[in-house]
Amino acid sequence: MIASRLNVPVVPVRLEGLDKVLHHTWRMARPGPVRIAFGPALRLVGDDYEALAQQVGAYQQGTAAADHEIEQLTAQRAQLTASLDEDLLRRYDRLREAKGGVAIVAVRGGRCGGCHITIPERFTRRLEENPDTLAACDGCGRLLFVPR
Ligand SMILES: [Zn+2]
Repeated sequence: MIASRLNVPVVPVRLEGLDKVLHHTWRMARPGPVRIAFGPALRLVGDDYEALAQQVGAYQQGTAAADHEIEQLTAQRAQLTASLDEDLLRRYDRLREAKGGVAIVAVRGGRCGGCHITIPERFTRRLEENPDTLAACDGCGRLLFVPR
């Protein structure tokens, strides 16, 4: 394998949605979302082609197992969120996307668990008294809760 001979890493790349915007029979791509993900670099060492192929195969099996787990968790999430208010779920998803995957944070020691600004005590008290109240941090916009 060339990567092994040149002693360079192989960076796995996954393209999701490409088949929906660019078909091999089309002359032009259509506008649409495509997700690009890069995996950890693989170092292929040695000149035993079979061993290198097995190493790549093992990596592919690992990603297939992860894909399967993601599918299961996605289905589980759909079941769990089916009874939630749609506007609230959209708000949560937008926040999660914008805030690096963390949309809800705890208030600890009077500070937001996301951006660490001070949360006014009256605000924290209101959350403690009414835990079902939705409140957002003025600093980062994440939803806040007070752990019991
Ligand atoms: Zn914050």
